Amino acid sequence: MDKPTEQLRKILKLEQSRGYEDTAVIGGLDRFLARFSSEYREPLSLPIPSYKALDKNQREKWVKSTLGRVESSEPRVESQGDGRGTPERTVSRAKRLQTHTTAPPPPKPALPLDSRITEVAGINQRMAARFAKLGVITVRDLLYFFPRHHIDYSRRSRIADLEVGIEQTIVAEVWQASEKRSLRGMRSTEAIVGDETGTVRVIWFNQPYLAKRLSPTTRIALSGKVELFRDQKVFQSPEYEFLESGDLIHTGRLVPVYPLTQGLYLRQVRQVVKEALDLYLPHIEEFLPEGVRARVGLMGLSEAIRQAHYPAGESFKDAARRRLAFDELFLIQLSVLSRKRDWREAEQGISLNAEPEYLARFLASLPFELTSAQRRVLDEIRGDLAQDKPMSRLLQGEVGSGKTVVAAAAMLLAVASGCQAALMAPTEILAEQHFENICRLLGSTVVWVVPDLDGANLGQRRPRVPGLVVVELLTGGSRAKQELHQRIASGEIDILIGTHALIQKKVEFHRLGLVVVDEQHRFGVMQRAELRQKGTSPHMLVMSATPIPRTLALTLYGDLDISLIDELPPGRREIKTRWLSPRQRQSGYAFVRKQVALGHQAFIICPLIEESENIEARAATAEYERLSHKVFPDLRIGLLHGRMSTSQKEEVMRHFRAGEIDILVSTSVVEVGIDVPNVTVMLVEGAERFGLAQLHQFRGRVWRSSYQSYCLLLSESPSEEGRERLKLMEETHNGFRLAEEDLRLRGPGEFFGTRQSGLPDLKMAQLSDVGLLELARSEAIWLFEVDAQLERPEHKALSCAVARLRANVNE
Ligand code: ADP
Ligand code: MG
Repeated sequence: MDKPTEQLRKILKLEQSRGYEDTAVIGGLDRFLARFSSEYREPLSLPIPSYKALDKNQREKWVKSTLGRVESSEPRVESQGDGRGTPERTVSRAKRLQTHTTAPPPPKPALPLDSRITEVAGINQRMAARFAKLGVITVRDLLYFFPRHHIDYSRRSRIADLEVGIEQTIVAEVWQASEKRSLRGMRSTEAIVGDETGTVRVIWFNQPYLAKRLSPTTRIALSGKVELFRDQKVFQSPEYEFLESGDLIHTGRLVPVYPLTQGLYLRQVRQVVKEALDLYLPHIEEFLPEGVRARVGLMGLSEAIRQAHYPAGESFKDAARRRLAFDELFLIQLSVLSRKRDWREAEQGISLNAEPEYLARFLASLPFELTSAQRRVLDEIRGDLAQDKPMSRLLQGEVGSGKTVVAAAAMLLAVASGCQAALMAPTEILAEQHFENICRLLGSTVVWVVPDLDGANLGQRRPRVPGLVVVELLTGGSRAKQELHQRIASGEIDILIGTHALIQKKVEFHRLGLVVVDEQHRFGVMQRAELRQKGTSPHMLVMSATPIPRTLALTLYGDLDISLIDELPPGRREIKTRWLSPRQRQSGYAFVRKQVALGHQAFIICPLIEESENIEARAATAEYERLSHKVFPDLRIGLLHGRMSTSQKEEVMRHFRAGEIDILVSTSVVEVGIDVPNVTVMLVEGAERFGLAQLHQFRGRVWRSSYQSYCLLLSESPSEEGRERLKLMEETHNGFRLAEEDLRLRGPGEFFGTRQSGLPDLKMAQLSDVGLLELARSEAIWLFEVDAQLERPEHKALSCAVARLRANVNE
C-alpha cells in the first residue's frame, strides 16, 4: 500500500475506534476526503451528500466498505459509487449494489465516445435533435455538457424543522396521494408525506400523473421551497425523487442545472447525463501524464467529469472544475507550442545581419529620439533577425506608441541584408497610410552596398542595384498590377505594403526576408501562415495596438514571443473623455462647433450595427444628411464608410487631411490607424455598443496631436454594464486595463468579435485565472522538452486530445 492510501487507512481506523463521531480529522473528515480524492490519483467513492451529513449507521457502513476496498487494494471501481451508500436506499437497491462489488465486472470493451448520443439509453432521435441545438452530438459532447450551476439540496431537513421560504430537502414516506382538480379545471397531484418527526402536505400543479406513482409507503426525497397555505406548511411543486431508483440526481445533493432548449427538460437531461456517466465514464481515457497530474494536484479525469455533474460537495465541484479548466488551457498551450515547433524546427531561416551603420543612420535621420521602450523592443527584434531561426514576434503597444517606426527599422534591416520585406494591413486606408509613412521614413534612404555576410546566404541574395529603397503599395484597387507583380518577382521592389492582396497566389517575391502584419487580431492564423509561405521561412513581426491582456496573449499567441512598447512618446496629453446623456447631445454638438471655430476638425462616429456593413453604411449616410442639413448646415461635412470604393474613400481622406472637411461622419472604419493630427474631437454615437478596446482605438485617432483633444461618448440608454464600461472610459487611459475589463465584462468571443481569433470555446477555464494558465503553460513547456512530438506510448491519449482540439479550432 502506498503512503497516501496508508494514511487514509489509518484515519478510517481511527474514526472507527472513536465510534464514527467524525473526529478523526480536525474539522471533520469531509475536507480530508476531498483533498485525498483530488490530489491522489485513486479517486475514492465519497459519501453522499457528505460524511458529516450521514448518521452513525451510515457512517459505519461507508467506513467499513471503504476500508475493505483500501485494505484489499482492489483496483478502484469508479462507476456505480458502490459504498457511497446513501442511507435512504432500499434494501433491494443495496442488494443490487452488493452484487456489483463482490464480483467486479470484467473489463468491458472500450465504448466509442465518439458515437452519437442516441446510443445512450433514453435518447431518441427527437431528443438528439434538441441536444444538437446545444452543440451536443456525440457521447463525449454529452459527458462534457456541464451544468450551468448547481442547486444545493444536500442538507437534509426533518419535517418538524421545515422553514417557510427557503430551499430544503426532506426524505419521507408517502402516506397518501391523489389527483385533484381545481375549480378552473387544473389537474394536480396532492400528497401527504411523513418522516419520524411529522407530516407535510405536497402539491404538484399540472402533474396529475404523479398521483399514480406515489403509492403509500413509497420513499421519496423532496427538494424545494415550503410555503404557507392557510396557515399550513406546503411543499409546492418540489423536485422529487424515488429512492429506489438509484443514485440521487434530482434531490438530496448538489443538483445540476443544465442549459436547456425548447422541448428539452431538466429532469430528462439529468437522467440521460447520469446514464451516460455510468456507462461511458469507465471507458474514458486519462490523457494527462501522471507527472503533470501529481505536480499540479489534479483529480483524475473520469472522477472530475462525474464530480462536475454530480459533485459530492462544494470542494469536489471546485476540484473537478480546476482539473477540467486545466485540461482546456493545457491543451491550448500544447497546440500553440506544436504550431510554434512546426514553424521553427522545420524551417531554416535567413539571418538578417545588416551592417549596424544602416540602423544608426536611419535613427539619426528621425526628427525625434526613440523612447527607451522603442529602443528595447528594437534590440529584441534585431537579436531575432540575426538568428537563422525565423522570428515569430508580437509587437504590442498602445495606439500612438510608435510601432511604425520600429517596423520601418526592421524592414530596413531586411533590405540592407539583401532581402525584401512586406507589410500587410487590414484595410486599404491603413495600407495607404502605412505606405505614406514608410515612404517618408525610408524613401530617401540609400542602401549602397550589398553587405558581406557569411557564406550560407550568399548565393541566394537577390541582385540589387545600390540606391534608394524602393517602396510600393499593392491593394485590391491598385492599377497595373501585372507590372507590379513582375517588379516584386524580379526583386526590384524592396518593400511591399498592402492589404490581404499580398497573399494572393499571383504575388511572388524574389526573396522575402521579413513579413510585418499590422493589427494582427484582424487576421486569422491562416492568413498569417499564407503570407509567411510567400518566402522561404521569412521572419515575422506582428503588431497590435489592441492591448491584449497577458493571459489571452499567452493563450492565443503562445506561439509568438512578445515585445511590448509600454511608453508613449513624450509630450502627449491625456485625451479628455466625457460620457454624455441624451439630454446633453446639443451641448456635445456645440462643443464640436467650438473646436471647428478654433480651426480644428472632428470625427463623428455612427453606432455599430451588427447585421451588415450595408445597413451600417445606410445609417451613416442618413446621419450624414441629418448633420449636414439640420445640425451643421454651415460647416463642411464629409462621409466615410466601408461600402465606398477605395478611390472614394481615398478622395474623402485626402480632403479631410488637407483640412477641406470640418467634420467627418464615419463608421467604425476609422478604428485603425488613420492619422490626421489636426483633429481634436471625436463624438461617438451609441457608444455602449462598442467594446472598450474598440472605443480606446477610436480615441487614439484624436490622440495624435499636441493639442488638447477630446472624446465625447453619446449613449441613449446604457444598461448597468454599459454604464460601468462608459465610466471606465472616462477614468482610465490604460489600454491594457481597459482590455482586461473588456475581457471580464464581455468574454473573449466578444472581445475579438469573431471566432477567427482562433480561440476555442472554453467551458471551464476562465482567462482571468492567471495562476492556472501559467501552470498549464509551464507544464506544457516541460512536456515539450520531454517529448515534443507526443509520440511516447504514454502520451498517445494526450496527442489525440490535442489533435481533437486543433481540428475544432480549424487552424
Ligand atoms: P502606433 O504605435 O499607433 O502605430 P505610430 O507609429 O503611428 O503609432 O506613431 C504615432 C506618432 O508618433 C507618429 O506620428 C510618429 O511619427 C510619432 N512618434 C513615434 N515615435 C516617436 C518618438 N519616439 N518621439 C516622438 N514621436 C514619435
Ligand atoms: Mg499604427
